[in-house]
Amino acid sequence: MAQPGRPPAAVGHSGQNGAGEQRYTNGPVQNSLVHSSQMSDGQGYSSAVPGLYSHQVPAKVPLQPSSGQYNFGGSQNVSPLSNQRSGQTINRPSMGHTSVVPLQHASSGPQMLPPSQNSAAVPSSSSSFVPGAHNAALSNWQYDQTPMSQPTGSQTHHFAHIAGTASTHPSLSLSGSTNPPTSHQYTVSPGGPPLQNSYMKPGSVPAPVNRPLASVFPPARSPPGPPPVGGPTLVRPSAPPVGPPPTSSVPHPPLNSASNHEATTFPSPAPQNLNLGRSIGYSYPTLPPAYQSASSPGAPGMQSSPLQYPAGSQSFPQPALGGNHLTASMGRLSLQPEGLRPINLLQERNILPVTPLQAPVPNLHEEIQKLNCNPELFRCTLTNIPQTQALLNKAKLPLGLLLHPFKDLSQLPVVTSSTIVRCRSCRTYINPFVSFLDQRRWKCNLCYRVNDVPEEFMYNPVTRVYGEPHKRPEVQNATIEFMAPSEYMLRPPQPPVYLFVFDVSHNAIETGYLNTVCKTLLDNLDLLPGNTRTKIGFITFDSTIHFYSLQEGLSQPQMLIVSDIEDVFIPMPENLLVNLNENKELIQDLLRTLPQMFTKSLETQSALGPALQAAFKLMSPTGGRISVFQTQLPSLGVGALKSREEPNQRAAAKDIHLTPSTDFYKKLALDCSGQQVAVDLFLLSGQYSDLASLGCISRYSAGSVYYYQSYHHQHNPVQVEKLQKELKRYVTRKIGFEAVMRIRCTKGLSIHTFHGNFFVRSTDLLSLPNVNPDAGYAVQMSVEESLTDMPVVSFQSALLYTSSKGERRIRVHTMCLPVVTTLSDVYLGADVQAITGLLANMAVDRSVSASLSDARDALVNAVIDSLSAYRSLVLSIQQPGLMAPYSLRLFPLHVLALLKQKAFQTGTNIRLDERIFTMCQVKNQPLIYLMLMTHPNLYRVDNLTDEGALNINDRTIPQPPILQLSVEKLSRDGAYLMDAGSVMFMWVGKNCGQNFISQVLGVPSYASIPQNMTHLPELETAESIRTIAFISWLREQRPFFPILYIIRDEGPLKSSFLQNMIEDRTESALSYYEFLLHIQQQVNK
Ligand SMILES: [Zn+2]
Repeated sequence: MAQPGRPPAAVGHSGQNGAGEQRYTNGPVQNSLVHSSQMSDGQGYSSAVPGLYSHQVPAKVPLQPSSGQYNFGGSQNVSPLSNQRSGQTINRPSMGHTSVVPLQHASSGPQMLPPSQNSAAVPSSSSSFVPGAHNAALSNWQYDQTPMSQPTGSQTHHFAHIAGTASTHPSLSLSGSTNPPTSHQYTVSPGGPPLQNSYMKPGSVPAPVNRPLASVFPPARSPPGPPPVGGPTLVRPSAPPVGPPPTSSVPHPPLNSASNHEATTFPSPAPQNLNLGRSIGYSYPTLPPAYQSASSPGAPGMQSSPLQYPAGSQSFPQPALGGNHLTASMGRLSLQPEGLRPINLLQERNILPVTPLQAPVPNLHEEIQKLNCNPELFRCTLTNIPQTQALLNKAKLPLGLLLHPFKDLSQLPVVTSSTIVRCRSCRTYINPFVSFLDQRRWKCNLCYRVNDVPEEFMYNPVTRVYGEPHKRPEVQNATIEFMAPSEYMLRPPQPPVYLFVFDVSHNAIETGYLNTVCKTLLDNLDLLPGNTRTKIGFITFDSTIHFYSLQEGLSQPQMLIVSDIEDVFIPMPENLLVNLNENKELIQDLLRTLPQMFTKSLETQSALGPALQAAFKLMSPTGGRISVFQTQLPSLGVGALKSREEPNQRAAAKDIHLTPSTDFYKKLALDCSGQQVAVDLFLLSGQYSDLASLGCISRYSAGSVYYYQSYHHQHNPVQVEKLQKELKRYVTRKIGFEAVMRIRCTKGLSIHTFHGNFFVRSTDLLSLPNVNPDAGYAVQMSVEESLTDMPVVSFQSALLYTSSKGERRIRVHTMCLPVVTTLSDVYLGADVQAITGLLANMAVDRSVSASLSDARDALVNAVIDSLSAYRSLVLSIQQPGLMAPYSLRLFPLHVLALLKQKAFQTGTNIRLDERIFTMCQVKNQPLIYLMLMTHPNLYRVDNLTDEGALNINDRTIPQPPILQLSVEKLSRDGAYLMDAGSVMFMWVGKNCGQNFISQVLGVPSYASIPQNMTHLPELETAESIRTIAFISWLREQRPFFPILYIIRDEGPLKSSFLQNMIEDRTESALSYYEFLLHIQQQVNK
């Protein structure tokens, strides 16, 4: 069978699918959260399939941690150290004593250590993945599988539907030592306390589509006696068990510690009822409501199971699962549905909706769709899944998922259950789209295995009724979180550990960043997510590495300097990461002192690589988060880099350095990943710092990259506020540790390429040492086997993580989509934003593996191919013009926007690091932000009104219409706000009304608007209040802080503003109309 296509060989950004051994094991077994044998000996696939899902590592450099380039052994010989800083240098601790100096930085002169020779292992970009036989298809995307299929046909993925064997958790028996420190939530036993007390809103379950339920479900308990009918015997629904409700031998109510711990995130459960009602409160109805609905729609679309029960037992009120509904409705319609209405793009110029574009609603039975996953969390490029790969190929659209799995949710149902119900075969979590054959058995919607309903599951904590498994919260919510019992961990959940690594070279101190960072940390120290186990530590570095002992009892922090950067070791490892609560004063003391300590430093060198090695060593016993702040190109020790940016060649789409120049950062990241350590990189630099190489440290360890170009506290003060705000979000946002994520899909579909920051540990298991609520992921899929007779398919992501409170939790999202058999239905369900987002991810890979121009060609070809297919295969009447189905009307515009986006644009005005950073954002941002930075929203703001405004917490938020991105839409009489995600521009026209200028901008005249205005004054005028409310509201909804630039018509920033006018022509790019003409030419060829 053909292997799912994927980009040709690549290094760096090209997706995690290169050659080599795919499983990366590293570190002590106890740190592995997943039992490796579980992952490798599944049904029918081997984790050693070559070439799949592994990172691109040059063949010559094996991935073993002990590859000789650096040695992690704790027992290496001590080499004499050169005393770089007399009196302060610390020798390897084998001497039994370290020289400890008080916290005064005695700066020594610059050191001239030769940079280490570590740049030899430059990954080759011409690895075996270049599908030589398929060069003709190079500019096409890989979702058209056939032309891109690999010569080695044996690599087809079968894991998608059998992935369950490689379950997200090990099924190991635990040794006693793995008791979780906070074991209360795991010890709830079946037969425990009553359930009725902590469910918050039993009666008013909001549709989970947008609003998962806010509640904590206590553990389900077994009913007191045997089940109504034991074993495989059919339960007669009309004879539900009669008898006392579950009683408990545990008299106290469940302490839903989870909800207590997470009180800031999850609403607390309703006050717990007294437990007296528990054993006397209710009895089973003689006929459960569920069984009374004789006119159940049944599941006409679902194939009958040979195990089907007699008709009488099938009256579960499950609505039909979809597909037939679609076909039937399509058949009845004489008119074309709106999504298929042909549009001549050359004629219809006003296609941009005035309100934010919504995700298409899958064409499912209303009852099913009501339960479907929120598209903000889980989205598919095609909401109508083509039945066969052939049909998908015809459509020339990519099939894939976009996920935002750990998004902050205001309401999230949490289940604490002693038994998490999963398919015995594929390990899918029970979800709203399974079918109940009867009261005792459910059929998996991914592999179709029939499973027994466990006894505990028979009791519904929501309705407090026994015998309604289909009404359990797990079956009513597409997004749900489970408290994981102990078998989901191989070691006790790790404590939250935060290590900060600061560049304190002369260059770094000069930017003034350390002040801002230390101040922000000081202000938010108490808000760091964690508990009494939280640990924190600090490292600073220039040409040497400085550790800080925060040992209890010290009167002040002690600085320890290690100058042997060739062979880094950790002095006093026990006192460098300390308990935050117990040592808070010393920590605060250090944060107050740090910014001043290096002000006189003349040290210009940067030993980032050795500092990261030290950080890794310090963190490996526990795992945790490293936050590294860097301001220049690393120049000393391992990982030293050389400048590769050649300004004159920026224009050329070829030959720019998008690939890492060393594999040091990637290899270290993989070591980190193996020890559950993630590295977040804050790059604050005015000079080229080779983000293409540095970024690997975050990318493969599941960290994030922040970039503050030309950060300077005086020359660029607006960046200070941005850093402050974003750092506050960063240090206080929710965090999950030692996480893994798996995505499963219905048998027949196959997932083949993952996008985002992580390491693919086995075929489909993403290793995420940290997971944060601001990270997005994308995957590409193919139709491996025809989905014949399947009316619907489902997708499920499961994220297993350790919360900052030390609980093991699993967040599960499940999405259900209909299967279609015609090309027009495929187009009808096209989600143009999701398609654009996935294409952008693929284009980053292509830019790195081939070239930028190749990626650009492929983007354009995606439009040409799909519109050609639509024209020749769907349109019955050929008409002149450029025809697109309504659902794809924005496709050319969005692709043009991608071509003009910083990641993919040509031209000389973009720095290499900035381009790389934008590529990082494409890969790591949730779709909503990616779309905003690709195609900004433009509003007129000088005439805001309250008409149609939102009312949120007594604030009135105006909602002006979105305008097309063209100067045609601008009037010199007005003022316009362009929201480009991470930056905002307010352009004020020359003849803008005096009212706006004085009432909003607070200046007397147009001419007096300051050149570098970045703030709106808070004035007591209605206009000012409205404008500020609108801008604040836009800002509040994102995890980063967009700077607002207020620009006059002739201001120097006007060109930046005009750059984002996607529909207009720029120096190097076509206007939208020209682009359409070009597409038309190609389509009509
Ligand atoms: Zn299954």
